[in-house]
Amino acid sequence: MIQKTLSTFFFTLCFMPVLLAQNRFDKVEIETIKLTENVYMLKGAGGNIGVAIGAKEVFVIDDQFAPLSNKIITAITKLSDKPIRFLVNTHWHGDHTGGNENMAKLGTTIIAHNNVKKRIKNTPNRQGDYRSKEALPVITFNDKLNITVNDEDVAIFHISNAHTDGDVLLYFTESNVLHTGDTYFKGSYPFIDLNSGGSVNGYIEAARRGLLVVNDATKIIPGHGSQSNKAEYSAFLEMLEGLKTIINAEIAKGKTEEEVAADASLTKVYDDLGFGNGFIKSNVIRRTYYKSLKEN
Ligand SMILES: [Zn+2]
Repeated sequence: MIQKTLSTFFFTLCFMPVLLAQNRFDKVEIETIKLTENVYMLKGAGGNIGVAIGAKEVFVIDDQFAPLSNKIITAITKLSDKPIRFLVNTHWHGDHTGGNENMAKLGTTIIAHNNVKKRIKNTPNRQGDYRSKEALPVITFNDKLNITVNDEDVAIFHISNAHTDGDVLLYFTESNVLHTGDTYFKGSYPFIDLNSGGSVNGYIEAARRGLLVVNDATKIIPGHGSQSNKAEYSAFLEMLEGLKTIINAEIAKGKTEEEVAADASLTKVYDDLGFGNGFIKSNVIRRTYYKSLKEN
């Protein structure tokens, strides 16, 4: 039920009636953080955006919500007057793809995993409306893809069944920047969208794979939260794995989902480190872990 509610919440965000959405987004300011000579992180509302500036073009990762598109495009224009040529969606959620239609209207080519296109295309909002064709990625792939930006290879790789069933991580091989999409919520428990094909084991695998490509100098753009680094990313993986051991032990003892959700002592060690202070509270992560691990 919680999963369903969360899924609906994330989804609804991008379909809210325009007026309501407008009010919510009026006060949002886009903050630009310079990571390297030509790679930036943009924060506003929703998933963190990555921007790479090339000599002839701009490359963007994720686009938050439609009502923020003008502000986002203005922020990008301050970095470069070149056209936004490519946009990669790290996954299908509305707080990462809500601006797709507006970006497509600029002539931007949208790229994503096959399942991102399927989910955007086939998921109606509460009113039964579907997003327009312009919101759909036009280039899709399954395992991995390479894009050359400013003579630099950007490696894009898919991890199955992590936050959703369409997640990708992007690694700038020379700038040494990693964008994790929502396979990393810095300093907090993650949302693992079981209704969109996410799973605890896949989520842990995503963090392991991400950590394989980074070093102490890597600048990490998490899906949510501020700019990060390898040490924080490692601490996040330790939490994910530690929690798996704890919840698996409860499952082995025959505990029910309700018992695990109600037992705050199970997550205390991580709650004390602040992981429960984000969007996903500790009872929610206990329930998500239980559901996902019980299925295996
Ligand atoms: Zn997400």
